[in-house]
Amino acid sequence: MASQVTFIGAGNMASAIFGGMIDGGYPADAITATSPDETLLAPLHERYGIQTQTDNAAAVANADVVVLAVKPQIMHDVCSGLRDAVQARKPLIVSVAAGLTAETLDEWLGGGLAVIRCMPNTPSLVGAGASGLYANARVSDDQRQLATTLLEAVGIVEWVDDESLLEAVTAISGSGPAYFFLVFEALEEAGKRLGLPAESARRLALQTGFGAARMAQQSEFDPARLKRNVMSPGGTTERAIQTFEDGGLRELFDKATDACALRAREMA
Ligand code: NAD
Repeated sequence: MASQVTFIGAGNMASAIFGGMIDGGYPADAITATSPDETLLAPLHERYGIQTQTDNAAAVANADVVVLAVKPQIMHDVCSGLRDAVQARKPLIVSVAAGLTAETLDEWLGGGLAVIRCMPNTPSLVGAGASGLYANARVSDDQRQLATTLLEAVGIVEWVDDESLLEAVTAISGSGPAYFFLVFEALEEAGKRLGLPAESARRLALQTGFGAARMAQQSEFDPARLKRNVMSPGGTTERAIQTFEDGGLRELFDKATDACALRAREMA
């Protein structure tokens, strides 16, 4: 029988994950989602066939897994309200909230729990996410496997064995979508400056990013080799790449990702 999974919070991230699980064949009747907002829950029940609840504690009474998917600012209050029910049942806790450590969540929920902390990213909302996961020492192999299944419903999963490495995950994939959006923005502007209509410049920039990622994922070669393959000596691409290198783009990536990881550490 499928594990009973309860989502506390039924917003963007929760609905992306349970929507992906159901698309992948997970039984909808084994999934419950909660929100204080009943008007949000009715359409979710209608669309996905999941159970819905406004009472968080009641919703975890039969749960094998509790996914904490509310905003970090309200997590303390939400955990206080769940504490007794969670201690009675001891389900696996999976948190997608940014910046809250496994230890903090365990403490807020009364202690002694198996806790997995996840750093997802926004492309999870379109099924193309990248999540970093960390498990505390109480998490069993079966529970790891279950969490992998849940998060693979919205993309790829990478485990880290040291919680501080979630700061590196934040610097690469958590915040990473914005780096690519910046590149798309800059390429679109460049296309317009070089005379292309705005719409064409945007379509060409986005498709090129998409195509390059797909090609890199499918290729037997690493990105460095794929880059060299499009740089004929004396050609156009070589001129552009040399300009990026001379301008210090690699050093800028180092500085930006260092700053991001440091901020993640400050916030944890
Ligand atoms: P959201 O605002 O879309 O969803 C939050 C949900 O919590 C809403 O459905 C709201 O009704 C519900 N809620 C509010 N108070 C509640 C309560 N007391 N009990 C139960 N439910 C309650 O937010 P989101 O974007 O889905 O983010 C949720 C979590 O995911 C956050 O902690 C965020 O850090 C994390 N996260 C989100 C993304 C993303 O791409 N959206 C990426 C990384 C991490």
